[in-house]
Amino acid sequence: MNRKKTRIIRVGDQFIGGAYPISVQSMCNTKTDDVDATLAQIQALQSAGCDIVRLAVPDEKTARALPDIRRNCKLPLVADIHFDYKLALAAVEAGFDKIRINPGNIGAREKVKLVADACKANGVSIRIGVNSGSLEKDLREQVGPTPEALCESAMRHVRILEDLNFEDICISIKSSNVADTVAAYRLMSVMTDYPLHLGVTETGTTYMGIIKSAAGIGSLLMDGIGSTLRVSLTADPVEEVRAGIAILKAVGLRQEGVNIISCPTCGRTNIDLIQTVHKVEALLKDVKRPLTVAVMGCAVNGPGEAREADYGLAGGNGEGVLFKDGEIVRKVPEDRLAEALYELIMQEEKGV
Ligand code: SF4
Repeated sequence: MNRKKTRIIRVGDQFIGGAYPISVQSMCNTKTDDVDATLAQIQALQSAGCDIVRLAVPDEKTARALPDIRRNCKLPLVADIHFDYKLALAAVEAGFDKIRINPGNIGAREKVKLVADACKANGVSIRIGVNSGSLEKDLREQVGPTPEALCESAMRHVRILEDLNFEDICISIKSSNVADTVAAYRLMSVMTDYPLHLGVTETGTTYMGIIKSAAGIGSLLMDGIGSTLRVSLTADPVEEVRAGIAILKAVGLRQEGVNIISCPTCGRTNIDLIQTVHKVEALLKDVKRPLTVAVMGCAVNGPGEAREADYGLAGGNGEGVLFKDGEIVRKVPEDRLAEALYELIMQEEKGV
């Protein structure tokens, strides 16, 4: 896949853009000034594989909690700020790595300049984030939340920062409509070479939200568009991280960990394949090296269909066969299949 060349910005120890790996972001849904709860959630997100975490900073009371949070976690942190430049300055002072703010909403040029200068002096980048629900009045009334209007809105904010010689920018232009989101990002990637933060917004609950995100974010990634992403779900943010990583793996942009290939089952299936594949997945969840594992319902098609797999199992009648690199290794009773496959893989993991 040819990824579009973009500029590069730094967010703490992460780089966004260029040929850097696409980072996965999420946002805490704790009250940010509940420092213990926020730190616990940041830790949970980090354990799930999150690269960058964003926190809402709606008021001064929240801003006062930022230094304490910064001191007690290592992940790159983004402060999400609407309108109030003083909160942005507080986040920079607290050592946050990126601010999400739309400069056109800050007000007087001098206030925007204070924010841009503080960010520049401290190596802090800025994400301009335009959503279909919060377009400027003139664009909303004249054209509505079209992909073109989303891009025009983002570019207005970009121009404000560029006029102040600030270019450590990334951009998001999210719509709750998948097709509009994809069209907007495609347009934006032609209009600018700033790195793009991908996402479909307000996608709903986990199941449909992941499907909308996979369709939207996945389409763009396949086009080579996007340098970082967030899957937005009305759910535990850990689910967002898991979904983001899964989307990257599905399109081949992350390789680490196990990729499970399993068949849909059919009238030839004579083992409880659904239970077996869940067991295999759970047993192998901590394997970090790239590994393709096939879990197939029958031996007729199993090893053949999964020839590309490193390891696999194929069900028979009350038993199954394990295979490695497409070759059968041995037969195993059905109730031991998942564990035996796990043991076979772990022998190699441990170099036995
Ligand atoms: Fe059916 Fe076998 Fe194909 Fe699974 S691998 S869907 S059991 S034919």
